[in-house]
Amino acid sequence: MEKGLYLVISGPSGVGKDTVAKQLGGWISVSATSRKIRDGEEEGVNYFYHTREEMEDLIARGELLEYTKYNGEYYGTPLQPVRDHYAKGDLVIFVIEVEGAANVKKAFPEAVTVFIMPPSMEELRNRLVNRKTETAEQIEGRMNTALREIEIGKTEYDYVVVNNEIDQAVSDILKIVEDEKKRR
Ligand code: 5GP
Repeated sequence: MEKGLYLVISGPSGVGKDTVAKQLGGWISVSATSRKIRDGEEEGVNYFYHTREEMEDLIARGELLEYTKYNGEYYGTPLQPVRDHYAKGDLVIFVIEVEGAANVKKAFPEAVTVFIMPPSMEELRNRLVNRKTETAEQIEGRMNTALREIEIGKTEYDYVVVNNEIDQAVSDILKIVEDEKKRR
């Protein structure tokens, strides 16, 4: 049977990576996290929400493919569903931060990594402000994190895609997926 493809997508908070990922037509891995649920999010859809202690149990039991602490909260990828979907031949998409991406690449060297860039830092700040989910202080924190992530994105990822216009970013990534499938 045809195997799937692992596609890791990272990018700074507010860059639109979730919106882009949803339009790729693959299966998106649902992460576990200890961060609080945001308005409009749903258990089992955006994340599986846990306490910090529960996250530490998942880590200790080896149930996460990778995990990290980001803004003081745990985020991790449940391993079993990822294996199942790959075996079915699905395009398995991880929308995770840079440290997790490096760990997925270690676990699955054949994984394709794509970093999504904002058109500019100013545009990124506008998107975070318009999202209205974070305080001004949190936005400054996200901007500093973004600068660090972008440096890693430029050097460590297989591909960089600028999200100027969603449809264009989606078709750029689909082209990458097609090219990678052909090469295998
Ligand atoms: P947010 O709190 O905005 O939903 O996510 C914060 C960051 O954590 C984002 O960069 C997101 O992609 C990343 N993230 C979400 N789930 C995971 C995960 O399972 N593992 C890792 N390493 N990062 C994750």
